[in-house]
Amino acid sequence: MIESFIEFVRDTYKISDLIPLHAPTFNGNEKAYLNQTIDSTFVSSVGKFVDEFENKIEGFTGASKAVATVNGTAALNVALHMAGVERGDLVITQALTFVATCNALYHMGVEPVFVDVSKISLGLCPASLEVWLNDNADINDSGKCIHKSTGKRLSAVVPMHTFGHPVELDELLLVCEKWNLVLIEDAAESLGSFYKGRHTGTFGKFSAISFNGNKVITTGGGGMVLCRDEQDGKRVKHLTTTAKVPHPYEFYHDEPGFNYRLPNLNAALGCAQMEVLGEFLAKKRLLADSYRSFFNKLDATFVVEPEYAKSNYWLNSIIIEDKSERDRFLEVTNSNNIMTRPVWKLMNTLPAFSNCIQGNLDMSISLEKSLINLPSTPIIKV
Ligand SMILES: *Cc1c(COP(=O)(O)O)cnc(C)c1O
Repeated sequence: MIESFIEFVRDTYKISDLIPLHAPTFNGNEKAYLNQTIDSTFVSSVGKFVDEFENKIEGFTGASKAVATVNGTAALNVALHMAGVERGDLVITQALTFVATCNALYHMGVEPVFVDVSKISLGLCPASLEVWLNDNADINDSGKCIHKSTGKRLSAVVPMHTFGHPVELDELLLVCEKWNLVLIEDAAESLGSFYKGRHTGTFGKFSAISFNGNKVITTGGGGMVLCRDEQDGKRVKHLTTTAKVPHPYEFYHDEPGFNYRLPNLNAALGCAQMEVLGEFLAKKRLLADSYRSFFNKLDATFVVEPEYAKSNYWLNSIIIEDKSERDRFLEVTNSNNIMTRPVWKLMNTLPAFSNCIQGNLDMSISLEKSLINLPSTPIIKV
């Protein structure tokens, strides 16, 4: 199986040296737009590409307002802050995620609570969330959701759309409503993924997208906060740009702000990448289809989008239940210059988060041992 996989990937990519997991592709207007920023000298915090990039993301996702930030982690930080998450709170998320989700919480003085993921989406499981809340939480007289044994406030739920596969949003939203919790989507990996026809990141009160170099499209480094409410969007813009009150020459800042604005240079790259996003997504879907038929023949489990969703297939993945066989797959493919990767170590096993509260994590533990990510760069003919 491994030998035929190697042959299949080489044949698919027609590359004889290293085949990366996910490489950026620049063959549109990237250079032209970057040159424009340099020629105009507007490479930094002022320039037309930031607004243009935000407009493009609003148009594509349907979000009321999108605010560009320096990276996805910063976007998460602002999203949580805007949702009213405060120092000392607990926030529920999944243990199967990239560390950025938890880092954003950690630096706000907030502790993550880990709840299991669902086999359907690989993201936060609504049933597990409900079970954990029923066992561990109460709503107090003022309507706040309180963790019974520590007395701490539970303020938000942060599901993450793993590898671009949308979580079960309707069910999660119902649980959140019942328990007075704000839903914030970590949509860092899911630009181009839709839940029942609507773009991910438009269900939570706020959500975060990432444009890091390995994501579907990239701005070098960058992120975006999506807001459901336009007024909120204006405040996000204000907060991420040092909370400066507009004035022809005076410096007055009406609250502690962040300096999270995406430089015009990066936004220029983003504008060019948005022009080819549709093509990238179509090519990623073709690649996923061809992986699926390849693995079907071999009786291996290729992870497909949930039936309610259209996934961007950011990272293609397979499940190999037998751990030693899984590890051999990683070993042999990597030594043959084909980049494959295990999924992230569960967050509750990292030193910073090992003492955090956790529910039953059986599915997360099983997936951590069996998941493999496959080369997923869309194949674009130049
Ligand atoms: C990429 C990513 C982020 C944010 O990444 P940045 O590198 O800060 O842009 C956050 N959460 C998840 C799950 C991610 O994959």
